[in-house]
Amino acid sequence: MVKKLKNYIGGSWVEASTSHYTPVINPATCETIGECPDSPAADVDKAVQAAKEAFEEWRRTPVLSRAQYMYRFKALLEDRFEDMVKIVVAENGKTRDEARGEVRRGIESVDFATAIPVIMRGYKTEDISSGIDETAERQPLGVYAAITPFNFPMMVPMWFLPTAIVCGNTYIVKPSPQTPLSMEIVYELLDELDLPEGVVNLVFGGKESSMAVMEHPDIVGVSFVGSTPVAKLVYETCAKHGKRVQAQGGAKNYIAVMPDANMEASVANIMGSVYGCAGQRCLAGSVIVAVGEAYEPLKAELVKRAGALRVGYGMNEESQMGTVISAAARERITGMIQQGVNEGAALVLDGRDVKVAGFENGTFVGPTILDKVQPDMTVAREEVFGPVMAIMQVPDFDAAVDVINRSHYGNAASLFTASGKHAREFKYRVRAGNIGINVGVAAATASFPFGGQKDSFFGDLHGQGLDALEFFTDKKILIERWL
Ligand code: NAD
Repeated sequence: MVKKLKNYIGGSWVEASTSHYTPVINPATCETIGECPDSPAADVDKAVQAAKEAFEEWRRTPVLSRAQYMYRFKALLEDRFEDMVKIVVAENGKTRDEARGEVRRGIESVDFATAIPVIMRGYKTEDISSGIDETAERQPLGVYAAITPFNFPMMVPMWFLPTAIVCGNTYIVKPSPQTPLSMEIVYELLDELDLPEGVVNLVFGGKESSMAVMEHPDIVGVSFVGSTPVAKLVYETCAKHGKRVQAQGGAKNYIAVMPDANMEASVANIMGSVYGCAGQRCLAGSVIVAVGEAYEPLKAELVKRAGALRVGYGMNEESQMGTVISAAARERITGMIQQGVNEGAALVLDGRDVKVAGFENGTFVGPTILDKVQPDMTVAREEVFGPVMAIMQVPDFDAAVDVINRSHYGNAASLFTASGKHAREFKYRVRAGNIGINVGVAAATASFPFGGQKDSFFGDLHGQGLDALEFFTDKKILIERWL
């Protein structure tokens, strides 16, 4: 019997009010491992009512007491670490080590939330005018929600939930229907904390539940992570409904390599960036911009190393790359590879026909490299979200910066070099929100905001770090005169 997932509302697991369920598929085995309800707007409303009811008491709970829950939460997460890893692998298809990295990053956001009592402070100026004092106090605002993607099903909701609730808000997560099981286990642990009912809620579903979150009059703020078209929709819809919104979108990340770079270290980093999580990371390197004579040695080594990667079931420790998320994703990715060829790129490594023994139905795409890519080709401009590397050659550093800045995305960009001058220029001039210098995946840690510009981010306050504190609190101004 395949388990039908229940929503978690007001401290209880409750059946969704729908008969429509989407199968959750293990992309390596093609087994159905769960049934995810397509919760209607009425279920989102129930979660909002529970969260709204919980808010007044929760915000009056001292911030130190709110933070205490996070210590216990962390202990439970550590206890169940490998169980969560297995669930991430089963529903997402990444390798165990990649899932371990994801769960670790998720826990780091809980660590950050334990610091909220230290940083959730206001400020005061005496005698701002004669006999008048002025204070700015931070206050929570009410019910917040997150709409999250398939590719980091455990980590991404954790960017938001712990900070939001320790700040005194109540919360709803609406995960991706492709990967809902990771949040189910996280909420089982949240349930063990005995938080007041309604502080945290979970609603499974697709577009209808997302729309209900964006439009609900009693949700004050929404954090979204996913593709750019949906990020735009979320930004516009939430703004129309008077909400705070931070919407992190898709990406097209460039990695430039100078001739003076340490070639061995650069190649190792690029491999991890492009093929980690089978390229399904918003920080995945996608276009390798080889500057001048870096091109020949870099290309030769990348083709050699990529061709040797062990593709396999994520649950097997020896696998170095797992599946992509679904048959539809594989079709889209192989279609983009073909489009690259049709537009004139040279296919120097073709992963389209990769087969993994014992997992013949799995949605694998092997490491792929398209060489001689030009800036106007689709494969250089649009997000592939799969294990596909595009290589282009440019004459010099300025040409590399130009090509990167032509992108309508601005999530991440990296430079490999031994030159401090070029490193500084790169950081200064490149219009992307996360910059790596001799680092292939410039992933912000929990105490820093996750950058993003242009079509990769809509809003002003980013996820994580002090931006999250700003997003989840309002500064109320008090002006006092005592006669
Ligand atoms: P997606 O946009 O398809 O889905 C994200 C969420 O939005 C899911 O919960 C989904 O149910 C919901 N959704 C999808 N279509 C919707 C619609 N039309 N109306 C309302 N809700 C809708 O994204 P995905 O495929 O799950 O994730 C991959 C994308 O996420 C990639 O583009 C990747 O770059 C991006 N991503 C970005 C970041 C970042 O920090 N910028 C991080 C991770 C992933």
